[in-house]
Amino acid sequence: MITFDLSCDREHRFEGWFRNLEDFEDQLARDLVTCPLCGSNRVSKRLSAVAVHVGRRSVDSPKPEAPQDPKPGGEVTAESFFRVMGRFIEENFDDVGSAFAEEARKIDRGEVDARNIRGTTTPADEEALREEGIEFHKIALPKYDA
Ligand SMILES: [Zn+2]
Repeated sequence: MITFDLSCDREHRFEGWFRNLEDFEDQLARDLVTCPLCGSNRVSKRLSAVAVHVGRRSVDSPKPEAPQDPKPGGEVTAESFFRVMGRFIEENFDDVGSAFAEEARKIDRGEVDARNIRGTTTPADEEALREEGIEFHKIALPKYDA
């Protein structure tokens, strides 16, 4: 089973459980995923903000190694990719939660040590960061049970 943080078009937030990534994509494409609060089927994955190498003024910040396929020589499925990416980001990115934009700015100004961070942003945060030229990415990562 995998879980996604989802939200509907009325900004209700909920968790969706699926057998696997394909099951999720399939149900979403067929509008079978509905909000438990209002029944809306206009549902999307909530994205996490991830900043990579934000501290561009620091030359000696350690660079993370690219995630490796868990089965060398094996096929990289979307699911194994997300699983590895998710673990990689959990282990290598400092979770700063809703302080993401503030923390990204501090790193950009060199007020704190450069590091990789992840967290949540509001649309206003995102616009401000873009205007300030601070690089970040938004990704949706499923959570897998063990
Ligand atoms: Zn809703």
